[in-house]
Amino acid sequence: GKPVCLCHTCYEGPDCSDFSPGCPADVDSGDPLFLEPYWMRHAASSAILVAGYHRMSYRYNDSTISTELQKQILQLHAVVGNANTTGRFMVFGTGSTQLLYAAVNALSRDASPSPASVVTAFPFYSVYETQTNLFNSLNSKWQGDSAQWKNVSNPSTNVIEFVTSPNNPDCKLREPVLSGPNVKTVHDHAYYWPHYTAIPAPANEDLMIFTISKITGHAGSRFGWALIKDERVYERMITYVTLNSIGVSHDTQLRALKLLKAIQKDGGKELFEFGYKTIRERWEKLSKRVSASKRFSVPKLAPRYCTYFQKITGPSPAYAWLKCENEEDKDCYAVLKAAGIIGRAGAVFGADSRYVRLSLLKSQDDFDLLMQRIESLVSEEDGPR
Ligand code: PMP
Repeated sequence: GKPVCLCHTCYEGPDCSDFSPGCPADVDSGDPLFLEPYWMRHAASSAILVAGYHRMSYRYNDSTISTELQKQILQLHAVVGNANTTGRFMVFGTGSTQLLYAAVNALSRDASPSPASVVTAFPFYSVYETQTNLFNSLNSKWQGDSAQWKNVSNPSTNVIEFVTSPNNPDCKLREPVLSGPNVKTVHDHAYYWPHYTAIPAPANEDLMIFTISKITGHAGSRFGWALIKDERVYERMITYVTLNSIGVSHDTQLRALKLLKAIQKDGGKELFEFGYKTIRERWEKLSKRVSASKRFSVPKLAPRYCTYFQKITGPSPAYAWLKCENEEDKDCYAVLKAAGIIGRAGAVFGADSRYVRLSLLKSQDDFDLLMQRIESLVSEEDGPR
């Protein structure tokens, strides 16, 4: 008989070409597939081919690739102007995910009678909490919202504050909430790139973490890096990454090198312009439609001068941090789900359940379907026509 084929999600019919009408708009994850069209235009120049006998060793015979990759990264920061790399050491990670905990581990190792408190300003990217809890170290403990510590002038324990700028989920630029001799900050700059925010000035912190996932969109390659001022912290982070994974896959390093070289042929211009334009258009469409609604709202984000584009740019946030305004819509996630939109519930980010995060980073099809569903939902408010 005929082989039974499984259609791609949301398609059905004998040749899988009929769109399933009831299919939900899945805008839960931050999968950056909006950048696929850019890479389709650069398919050949970004391809890599590795023969089976190449690069089998745990080690590089020489470290040329890692050195080249570091150079490309430093050059990218210089061109974009989003980080001061002078006097910093660099550590590669298997995604920035590995480096987030490497930082906690490194910063919490100084002898102290009680574990370091790991905190961040709410709403926040939930991995800081889940990792700290999973590793359950004697040296560090998840303590929730930075705001609780603001008036503790001299906390008796060391504090490690994650500062996510722009923030996930609300996409605002952030500064540390806490300061003082016992406070160490980890600056997660996953979204500090011109697709997602104006770049007002180079970030200049002691410990900054970046990821290729949201720059080129290659989230599956799992590559990130940290820029670190303090040599001791750097050594500890190297130790962590070495013990945790013996470093970053050489295949991944090779691919990252190829991709970063490809985008820098024109100083990143085409990639960042395409990325910015795509998200900007999505945000304009969505925020315009939502602003006509009384039932839902999204944050008002201001235009800002971007030193990379050398002009004032309108907001282009990676996520829409949507709020259900009606008293009865307490579970906003459920309200949207019933309308065929799958977001990520506010509670995941430590926020009220009146909030839901909608990803603007997925494919154009996902976004178009989201807009269709939003359209029906918002036009319901006008009453039956
Ligand atoms: N930090 C933030 C704020 C993120 O949103 C993400 C991914 N969604 C990461 C870190 C981790 O990204 P990766 O491990 O792919 O580098």
